[in-house]
Amino acid sequence: MEFTFTLPQDYGASSPKKDLTLPEGEREVLLHSCCAPCSTAVLECMIANGIRPLVFFCNPNIQPQDEYEKRRDEWLRLCGLLKLETAVDPYDTAKWFECIKGFEDEPERGRRCDRCFAFRLTRAARFAKERGIRVFTTTLATSRWKSKPQVDRAGRAAQDAVPGTLYWDIDWRKEGLVGRRYELVKEIGFYNQRYCGCVYSMKSVMEQKKIREKREILKSSLDTDELSGALTK
Ligand code: SF4
Repeated sequence: MEFTFTLPQDYGASSPKKDLTLPEGEREVLLHSCCAPCSTAVLECMIANGIRPLVFFCNPNIQPQDEYEKRRDEWLRLCGLLKLETAVDPYDTAKWFECIKGFEDEPERGRRCDRCFAFRLTRAARFAKERGIRVFTTTLATSRWKSKPQVDRAGRAAQDAVPGTLYWDIDWRKEGLVGRRYELVKEIGFYNQRYCGCVYSMKSVMEQKKIREKREILKSSLDTDELSGALTK
């Protein structure tokens, strides 16, 4: 799928956070990115503060493959417009399924997600090290649906698993960044993602949708019964 969106004219100038510096005097950073919508405000903020990250796409959790390709291609378009260096990790779904094995039925934010985050961030840390970059961070906690402490635990585990790296636990939701994220997502009109990424999150969203539809049918039939009851009184 080819994406043709452009960036708003004020992109870069309107980042609400103006004082971003890398930890411990480092000059380079790898940004693990889950998708374009979660990356917009983060990348804008970095660029506005003179930081040009290596952006890394490692998301073999995303199913089915055409959904993965849509999210990746939209992300490539965004990074291309910003002229940032990118790297795409192989779409190794077998390893991802192996990693979450035994935790398939966990709810979102549960132990399956612990493993999913750790898997992706460990690969990000390894890739950063290979490229001689010490600091890595992620867009995974930019959405308000995600647990930042849970993402941070995975980031620290990845740092420990890859000696010589440093997980940057900056909160990308603070200082107006979450508001800017939603503003940019709406203005650019990104592809509408309906679930987190894995088959289990897709199944859960579909089940919730079915429950909502059943409730609506029940409600409207109750309304109709009440209405006809009232009319015959
Ligand atoms: S719900 Fe999201 S974070 Fe959790 S396992 Fe699935 S893709 Fe990963």
